[in-house]
Amino acid sequence: MFIDQEKCSGCGICLPYCPAGAIKLVGKKAVVDRELCLECGNCGRKQVVRCPKDAFVEEPGLYEGVRAVRKFFSDPATTHKVTRIPGRGTEEVKTNDVTGRVRRGEIGLALEMGRPCLGTSMQEVQRVTMALAAHGVVFEENNPLTHLMSDRKTGAISTEYLKEKVVSVIIEFTDRAERLPLLLETIRKVARELDTVFSLDLIACFEDDGSLPVLETLNQLGMKPRPNAKINLGIGRPPAPLYREGGPCR
Ligand code: SF4
Ligand code: SF4
Repeated sequence: MFIDQEKCSGCGICLPYCPAGAIKLVGKKAVVDRELCLECGNCGRKQVVRCPKDAFVEEPGLYEGVRAVRKFFSDPATTHKVTRIPGRGTEEVKTNDVTGRVRRGEIGLALEMGRPCLGTSMQEVQRVTMALAAHGVVFEENNPLTHLMSDRKTGAISTEYLKEKVVSVIIEFTDRAERLPLLLETIRKVARELDTVFSLDLIACFEDDGSLPVLETLNQLGMKPRPNAKINLGIGRPPAPLYREGGPCR
């Protein structure tokens, strides 16, 4: 994003709206620090910032170059080019009813790295992906981050993206349930090296009797999860397990 210097009156209205602190007053004009700007688009939303001079302008070609990574992982109004999914470019497992990503005997893990006002860098994200890849993790195909990797087996992200900063990235994968302790320990270790925040989502399937075996594993590890559930009644018709191998998952 940049500010048309001819139009800007230097009123300062826009300054508090930038989650990255990228808008500054220099003399009597506001300017965007290109290095800090995450291309989240917040300042350009007329109904939010109400710049009296309509001075915000999106960089030409923003959706094509390396910098497009900032846009796709920071502006919830964009739709990712590869996955065709808005937001951060992944359905996560909210639609597991129809995608059947996670089935019985498996766990889905999602690390949501960065938040507004803090963000994260692709360098940090790579620390996590490489630590996980060392244990043979297979990253989710339908997630844009996976498509930025130069080597999915090592978790390495293509070098041209490593200097990019974004609001938030989701690292996702599905694995066998018995590997949960190893994977959580790996995440715990690498978390100490990170200069950002993340939340860890663990997705699992109930058994017919209503039990959730993964809870016992967490108990043994001394971890207390905060249960969360989302039920999309009717969205999974027919339910994914009916036409996928691996047994029913509810
Ligand atoms: S709100 Fe508009 S006119 Fe006011 S400082 Fe920001 S860019 Fe300039
Ligand atoms: S696009 Fe987002 S990060 Fe960039 S200047 Fe505007 S509000 Fe700040």
